[in-house]
Amino acid sequence: MVNIRVGIIGYGNLGRGVEIALQAQADMELVAIFSRRGPAGVSPVDAEVKVEYLDAISAYQGRIDVMILCGGSATDLPEQTPAFAKYFNVVDSFDNHSQIPAHYSKVDEVAQAAGTTAVISGGWDPGLFSLQRVLAEAVLPKGATYTFWGKGISQGHSDAVRRVEGVKDAIQYTIPIEEAMDRVRSGSQPELATAEKHLREVYVVAEAGADQAKIEETIVNMPGYFADYHTTVHFIDEATLQAEHQAMPHGGFVIRSGETGAGHQHVYEFSLALDSNPEFTASALVAIARANVRMHAMGLTGAKTILDIAPAWLSHKDPADLRREDL
Ligand code: NDP
Repeated sequence: MVNIRVGIIGYGNLGRGVEIALQAQADMELVAIFSRRGPAGVSPVDAEVKVEYLDAISAYQGRIDVMILCGGSATDLPEQTPAFAKYFNVVDSFDNHSQIPAHYSKVDEVAQAAGTTAVISGGWDPGLFSLQRVLAEAVLPKGATYTFWGKGISQGHSDAVRRVEGVKDAIQYTIPIEEAMDRVRSGSQPELATAEKHLREVYVVAEAGADQAKIEETIVNMPGYFADYHTTVHFIDEATLQAEHQAMPHGGFVIRSGETGAGHQHVYEFSLALDSNPEFTASALVAIARANVRMHAMGLTGAKTILDIAPAWLSHKDPADLRREDL
C-alpha cells in the first residue's frame, strides 16, 4: 500500500496531537512539521521528522499529499487555510461556527482555482457532532436537537477571565446540567434557556493583595461570557492550578428527541468523553486527511466539510472488510 504523505502546519497542542495520532495509522506517514517559531530541527517525538520554518514549505510541494493545519481559529486559520490551499490539499479545524460559511467561501474560491481539496472545520464540534446533528435530523425530521458540552475547558472563557484586573491565571470549565439532559432524554422537547443547559466553573489564581470579591463580581457579570450563566468562582493557589488543572479533558452530547407515527418517541444520542481534547481532535483530523486524499484522487476539489465525506473514505479498512465487519 502506498502511504499517504502528511505535513503539519502549526506546532501547538493540536499539532502535537496530530503527530501522535499519525503514529497509530499504518497507511500514513508524517513528512515534516512547519512552524513560525524556531529553531528548525527535528521533532522531539521522532528524530526522523523534520521541524521546518514555515517559509521552507514551498520546497515540499509535490512531496506532501495533505497538510493538516493546526493553527488557532481566531487569527491563524482564516489566513493560513486559503493561503496553503493554493498549493496543497488541506484539512483544518476552524471552529468559529458563525464564521464557517464565510471561511468556506474564501477557501473554496482558492481551492477550486488551484484544483486542490480543502476540508474545513474538522474535529468534533464542528466535526463529528455536526455529522450527528445532520444524521439525527434526517432520520427524525419531527423533533428537536440539543447539544451539551463538557465537562471541559473553554479556552475563550479562560482567556477572558485572565484579562480581569487582579487575576494572575485562570481556568474555566463548562459543565452540562444533568437535569436538563434528563428532560431532553425523556422525550419532552423542552425549550431550554442558556443558563438551564450549562454551568460555568472558574478557578482563579489572584495577584497578591487583589480584591477577590471584586474579581468574582466582575467575572460573574461579564456580558457575553458569564452574565447569562450560573457561574461559580473558586480561588486557588498557583501550585494547585498547576497540579490539578493542566489536563485538557472535554466532551459532550448531541441528543435528538423526535417522534414518528402516532406519537412514538425516539431519542438519538451521541456522546464523547475525552481525556485530551487536542489529541482526540487531532485523531479526527487525521482520519479526515485520509478521506481528503481519496476525494482528491476522485477529482473532488474545492472546499468540503465532514458532511461531504462518505464514511468509508475515512477508514483505513478496505470497503469489502467494512461491509463484512462493520455493516
Ligand atoms: P495552540 O494555541 O496550542 O496553537 C495554535 C498555534 O499557535 C500553533 O499552531 C502554533 O503555531 C502557535 N503556538 C503554539 N504554541 C505557541 C507558543 N508557546 N508561543 C507562540 N505560539 C505558539 O492551540 P491548539 O492547538 O490548542 O488549538 C488550535 C485550534 O484548534 C483552536 O484554535 C481551535 O479552534 C481548534 N479546535 C477545534 C476543535 C474542533 O472540534 N473543531 C476542538 C479543539 C480545538 P506555530 O507553530 O506556527 O507558531
